[in-house]
Parts: sequence; C-alpha cells; structure tokens
Amino acid sequence: MPSTAALSAPSAGAALAPTVIQRRDLRPDDIAIDIAFAGICHSDIHMVREEWGEATFPMVPGHEIAGVVSAVGAKVTKFQVGDRVGVGCMVDSCGTCAQCVDGHENFCEAKTVWTYGDVDLHGETTLGGYSQSIVVTERFAVRIPDGLALDVAAPLLCAGITVYTPLRRWGAQPGAQVAVVGMGGLGHMAVKIAAALGADVTVLSQGLSKQEDGRRFGARDYRATSDASTFEDLQGKFDLVLSTVSADLDLAAYLSLVKPFGAFVTVGLPGNPQLLPFSAVVGGDKVVAGSNIGGIALTQEMLDFCAEHGIAAEIETISADQVNEAYDRVVKSDVRYRFVIDTATIDA
Ligand code: NAP
Ligand code: ZN
Repeated sequence: MPSTAALSAPSAGAALAPTVIQRRDLRPDDIAIDIAFAGICHSDIHMVREEWGEATFPMVPGHEIAGVVSAVGAKVTKFQVGDRVGVGCMVDSCGTCAQCVDGHENFCEAKTVWTYGDVDLHGETTLGGYSQSIVVTERFAVRIPDGLALDVAAPLLCAGITVYTPLRRWGAQPGAQVAVVGMGGLGHMAVKIAAALGADVTVLSQGLSKQEDGRRFGARDYRATSDASTFEDLQGKFDLVLSTVSADLDLAAYLSLVKPFGAFVTVGLPGNPQLLPFSAVVGGDKVVAGSNIGGIALTQEMLDFCAEHGIAAEIETISADQVNEAYDRVVKSDVRYRFVIDTATIDA
C-alpha cells in the first residue's frame, strides 16, 4: 500500500502533527490524487475538538481537497492522469438507493461515507485531505474547471457547495432579498454566489470590520448584529436568511428579519442545541430549515457556475506548521476568508 505524508490529530483536542499514513491500492474504479491544497473548514475544528460528540482518532481532517490525478484504476472512465480534480465531504455511498439515484449521495439510505473520521464500506477508517495524496472511487471526484486555480478552488468543495445548495433551493434570484449571517469561509462564498445568482444580498456580521470586503464580494448592504438597531431596521425584510454561524444564535431575533412565508436556513452547526420559540415561526408562516452540503452532480454544477462567473474563494495559504495557529484564528473569526494548506509543506 502506498504511504503518504499527512497532518494528524492523535487524540481529541490535540495539536495536529506530521505523520505518515497508508492509502489503499487502487481498486478498478479508483483514482489516486496528488493533493496540492486542502482547505480548513470550521467543521474540521468541531471534529478534532469533539464539539459534535465522540470522534475517532488518530484523525486526519480535510474535506476541501484539490489536486491532480496521478493514477487511475483499470475501469475508470471519468478521469485520466493529469486531470485537475476535487474531493469534498464524502467519498462513497451505495449508489443504488433512491437518494443516491436522485443525486443526493449525501443522504444515502445505506451509508454516506464521510471523507474522514468515518468507517468506509470496506471497514477501513477514512483519513482526509490534510495529506499529499488520497485514493477515492471516481464517482466521488469532480472536475475543477480550467479557469479555477487549485488553491482558490479547494474551499469550494465544502464551503462552496454547502451554500450553493440552499441558495438554489430557497430562491436566491433576481428580486429576492437574501441575508447572509456570518462572513467567514462559508459566508463569504454565500455572498459571492447569491450575488451572482442575482439576489439582493445583505451581510449580517458581528461588526463592521469586513464591510468593504463584503461589498466587494457583491453585498449591497452590510450590518452589524452587535447593533440592536440592525434588527429594528431590517424587520421582515428577507425572503431568505442563511446562517453560516458556528456559534449559538438568538433564533427569534433572526426570524424577526424573515418576511411572511420566507425561510431561515442554517448551514452553521454549533455544538449546542438552539432554542426555537414556536411563536417566531407561527406568526408569518415562516420556515426554519437546514442544509447539508450537496450531491456530486450539484457540486460539479457549482464548480462550473463559479468558473463561469469568475467566483473563487478568498484564501490565506499556509504551510503545514501553521495549521494549529490557523485553527485558533478561525475560532476567533480572524480568517480572510479561508485557510488553505499547501500540502507540499507537510514534512513527515
Ligand atoms: P468560519 O469561517 O469560522 O465562519 C463562521 C462565521 O460565523 C465567522 O466568520 C463569524 O462571522 C460568525 N461567528 C463566529 N462566532 C460567532 C458568534 N459567537 N456569534 C455570531 N457570529 C459568529 O466557519 P465556516 O467554516 O464558514 O463554517 C461555519 C459553520 O458551518 C460551522 O459550524 C461548520 O461546522 C458548519 N458547516 C456546515 C456544513 C453543512 O453542510 N451544513 C458544511 C460546512 C461547514 P462574522 O465575523 O462575520 O460575524
Ligand atoms: Zn466543511
């Protein structure tokens, strides 16, 4: 089995350190990818710190993977050596259930295999993208369009698809008023994509320090949630309020911003349960919904959409030895707007 350098957390909450891991020999439908860049998603931090419950260690996080195909199995038809590809949050599913057939591999009725911290359909623990190579079935790789550089494409594999799915589903389009809550990794992609879809976008951020960036990404308005007048001024304004916030939220306050029949949709996943006062949804027939990444076909559509509209992630490229510091900076909302690890710097 081929070995590769990776960054691994030995136990819950521990610092990530370089190590050597094994990747499987190619099965007929597998491709091997030389990973060039891996994005740091806040979910990686929730997972390593066990904020979502008990996890499996040692853990190699990383589900925003961009690289180049280095080898293909005997029955691979979709890719060739040298192709630029991405892998996101999942690496396998049954492929035959109603959800998979409908393109929702993320909700496979048998099992969606997550890119790391999971056990795959062959009983092996999955290890993620903070590494120099990965092996996946070709069904779970997508093509990175020529117009997108690999470093700024990597975050699209999770942050991009995670916001593209609810923006499409909940009607971000010309004439729609869309609020994006939190402008971090997911949030900044939501602003760019919602604006490209033609919606009128407002950012709701804790403060105004990123206002110029928000407007450059396509927002028409940018408000501080630390200012109580924001909630008075914007009462009942939005068709869609999309929360990308990783921490606890006052749901009643955000629901007051939604128009009758409009929706509050969260992709943010704070560890604590959030309180939903029914009075805040019953008055106004409002919808509260969640959204979890998106299927493979939709991920390809999102990448093609981003390439066509000149949309990419705003990144800070870091070397492997900066990853632990980067985690602390993400938690402090001190990231502009996604950290991306140059995997060539992993020295194991
Ligand atoms: P991130 O880069 O840390 O962005 C989160 C943003 O939330 C911050 O930039 C900040 O925006 C805001 N925020 C942070 N703490 C806050 C607080 N105490 N009060 C109010 N706002 C706060 O994280 P991310 O990678 O975008 O991920 C965001 C969340 O989505 C995480 O919970 C992650 O696990 C989840 N996620 C879900 C999916 C899915 O499929 N549903 C996929 C990926 C990630 P401002 O500085 O602008 O206020
Ligand atoms: Zn993610």
